[in-house]
Amino acid sequence: MCGIFAVSGDSSKAGSSVLKGLKKLEYRGYDSWGVCVREQESGTIFIEKEVGKISTVKRDFPAGREAIGHSRWATHGGVTRTNAHPHKVGRVTLVHNGIFENYLDEKKKLSAYAFASETDTEVIAALIDSFLAQDIEPLQALQRAACCIKGRFAILVMIEGREGIFAARRGSPLIIGRGATQTFIASDVPAFLEQTNVVNYLDDDEMVHVVGNKAHFFHLETGTPIEKRNISVPWKVEDAEKGDWPHFMIKEIFDQKKTIQKAIDHEDRKLQQAAKLLENSNGAYFVACGTAHKVAMAAEYFFADIVGRKINVVPASEMPSFERFVNPKTVIIAVSQSGETADVLEILERGKKKGAKILALTNVVSSSMARLADVHLPINAGPEKAVASTKAATAQMALLFLLAYTEIGQANVGRQILRSTASSINDMLNPRYENYIRSVAERISQQPNLFIIGRKSLYPMALESAIKIQEVSYINAQGFAAGELKHGPIALIEKNTPCLVLGDDPETLSNAIELKSRGASLIGVSPTRHDVFQEWLRVPDCNGAQAIASIIPVQILAYHLALLRGLDPDMPRNLAKSVTVK
Ligand code: GLU
Repeated sequence: MCGIFAVSGDSSKAGSSVLKGLKKLEYRGYDSWGVCVREQESGTIFIEKEVGKISTVKRDFPAGREAIGHSRWATHGGVTRTNAHPHKVGRVTLVHNGIFENYLDEKKKLSAYAFASETDTEVIAALIDSFLAQDIEPLQALQRAACCIKGRFAILVMIEGREGIFAARRGSPLIIGRGATQTFIASDVPAFLEQTNVVNYLDDDEMVHVVGNKAHFFHLETGTPIEKRNISVPWKVEDAEKGDWPHFMIKEIFDQKKTIQKAIDHEDRKLQQAAKLLENSNGAYFVACGTAHKVAMAAEYFFADIVGRKINVVPASEMPSFERFVNPKTVIIAVSQSGETADVLEILERGKKKGAKILALTNVVSSSMARLADVHLPINAGPEKAVASTKAATAQMALLFLLAYTEIGQANVGRQILRSTASSINDMLNPRYENYIRSVAERISQQPNLFIIGRKSLYPMALESAIKIQEVSYINAQGFAAGELKHGPIALIEKNTPCLVLGDDPETLSNAIELKSRGASLIGVSPTRHDVFQEWLRVPDCNGAQAIASIIPVQILAYHLALLRGLDPDMPRNLAKSVTVK
């Protein structure tokens, strides 16, 4: 997590540019923020940092052509001004994304330093400074420091008396933007997309020294220079902006009018390669976290129904218990919006070492997972900035549904079903539909609990509905397999407890009636209205792809529940997009 951003070049307004870019990365962390500018005349390091969100901050900075900044999601040390980045130790000023796992051991060795903060980050700054103090050159000092660090990091470093910005990565993303007169270093492309879409990707164990508008790349272990290719990112500025929408979340929900279609306008060759990988495997695992894990669970049903094949689904953090079953015949299928999720990346790295094949579905094409994978399927949803995933989740499901049909040699049938699903979703998503869902949200917004049930691929969607509602509205929402109710959860039902019923097959309806008999007020999410429902959110009949359409009204409901409870749906408490720490 954390957004980090640096600007270097011919404008003396680098400080304001960093502030502006950081605002575009705020979805990555919003506990506190900080900016550092090297003052143009004196070379003095100017630092400004504060607790709170950066989005409304207005500041003037001293003139300077080099600046670095950070928007934090705290891992080590509370949310305080002292713990906010940048951290300055001796000649070194540094911002960091990641976790320095052995920082306490290294901190003990650095007894000459008086540490101000509780962070792991400050220890990295001290490490680099300690090497500089031994007259080691900055690039070597970075190399030496990197040798001491266990864990993942992306760092931006400014050194007093030395020109330029130094950056290095191992496990956390860093992208170099190549503008006409300025060079940028960021955790993600939207930070500089207004200036340029031409980028160089920094890989793990690489570093860069940016001086003016020039970037020099090196291996972090050996220090040898590297040549980098310029790559054009296909994103447009407006894709990464809210435009007239009040929040990214609702914009991205309505983007689904197009994104499901885009997900399946997919290179056939890539799909065939992915299907081959699965066909040739003996044992496959979906590995994912959060919403992507629920997507993978839905895909487990798609593969069972369409291919007649059982694929294991394991949350990445639980996969270590099953890694001994991973071998060269295994395929690990990673599902991740960002392609940087630390828990998933670790499993992939270890799986690859054991000879397993990696299939990755990510939204960010340049992501670490995309680059690690044997086959990468981009989901083409465009930038997703709201913390709560919406369009990425449905695009992932659409692509996995298509992959299942590709595996049985019927990609055309899969495409046809999804095309008609996409077109029905396009019709369904309109202001009237949203207004009706808002009226349902008004009725239930002050309820403390909300339950959701579903069966088959709608069971994972019940779990995903719960995540969506929890993360933005903080209502205690819980999802259950419809048939599991009477084995415990039904004890939670009281008079007027709101329950969402995903689907209207006879078994689910009979479970819904059991809930109603105990006082629940039922909101149906289904193609047909039934008397048992007090309210009904219509979704199209999608012929096996029902999970994709059924989650959308719940996303809208979650959004309006957040608004009605006075919350910011784009930046829920304690969360951040793109979980790049374990
Ligand atoms: N570990 C650092 C801190 O707590 C950075 C956290 C992150 O990258 O999210 O300040």
